Amino acid sequence: MIDQDIKKLGFGLMRLPKKKDNSIDIEETSKMVDLFLSRGFKYFDTAYVYPGSEEAIRKALVERHPRNSFYLTSKLHAGAAKSEEEAKNEIYVSLERTGAGYLDYYLLHALMDDNYQQYEDYHLWDYVKELKEKGLIRHYGFSFHGTPKLLDEILSKHPDVEFVQLQLNYADWEDVNVQSRLNYEIARKHHKPIIVMEPVKGGILANPPKEVQELFRAEEPDRSIPSWAIRWIASKPGVMVVLSGMSNYQQMEDNSSYMEHFEGMSEKEEKIVEKATTLLFKDAIPCTACHYCTEGCPMNIPIPEIFSCYNMVKMGVDPEDAKFYYERRIKGKGKASDCLHCGQCEGMCPQHIEIISKLEEISALFD
Ligand code: SF4
Ligand code: SF4
Repeated sequence: MIDQDIKKLGFGLMRLPKKKDNSIDIEETSKMVDLFLSRGFKYFDTAYVYPGSEEAIRKALVERHPRNSFYLTSKLHAGAAKSEEEAKNEIYVSLERTGAGYLDYYLLHALMDDNYQQYEDYHLWDYVKELKEKGLIRHYGFSFHGTPKLLDEILSKHPDVEFVQLQLNYADWEDVNVQSRLNYEIARKHHKPIIVMEPVKGGILANPPKEVQELFRAEEPDRSIPSWAIRWIASKPGVMVVLSGMSNYQQMEDNSSYMEHFEGMSEKEEKIVEKATTLLFKDAIPCTACHYCTEGCPMNIPIPEIFSCYNMVKMGVDPEDAKFYYERRIKGKGKASDCLHCGQCEGMCPQHIEIISKLEEISALFD
């Protein structure tokens, strides 16, 4: 049985502290590990593809603490392998690097609509079951960046999967690209415990625009800004662990202090987060993703999805990162610069958005 009663903060090991020579600072990581464990947390999350992370956690955690005092997670990335055999060998590399003997949780890593088939073709769903039978892993699941439709398909086809890891945060909750809320609802429908990744959206919600910070500080001056994002998602039913990719001792000190005895956000605080979300999107294109505009577009341009990528930039996401989503959305469809200026879409838009000029602006940004 999965232990769902653990304290809800997980230590994400992707962005560990670095020394001047760019190697992982094991001493600092060890101090963070010790504080985390001393405050009653157990869940550590690494992956085969996180450079140096599995070796670092061997030194900072596995070699310094009893094996039964923590849960260690790693992941298998099919895209990092050139063949089925190589993909299936990743677990043995992870076990050797971590020295953990077994992994408490093992995930098929970063599934999405573009790469899902590779996991099927490599027979990895049967493989994780075999690994569990052999005692090399205790539980298996997958991390996911795709559409709710695909998530529903996977969970229907593989009902034995024990948990899912999703990108959930208040900025992505209604986003048409990430679709946090819809994916959360699918996981709940299938009764799967949820592990949350990117609760602060790659750092954006740790350092949001000034107005958002002022709103939070006016309410509770002593609380850190990221605490709002982490506590908000940790309050959702079904959330087992919220991963935070902590990079220094001070972040560990802060996160572990408010999550140590966390019992959920108050209604009043949730309302503040709602307000913050509105402020966050104040310079965004007010597209509701109704899709009325796309029906008759002769160039098949995914207008609302493209607008969502633009809105990410307005919220503070690095344009290069937003471009990654943009390129995924236009695959096999029209891009912003394909617009013929026919005007069909603008006549359909209930929000009266000047779609053509916005597409020109977006084209200059991404195409
Ligand atoms: S104006 Fe551009 S985006 Fe709008 S329907 Fe025509 S081609 Fe498509
Ligand atoms: S019609 Fe307007 S609001 Fe609806 S998806 Fe298109 S741009 Fe967005």
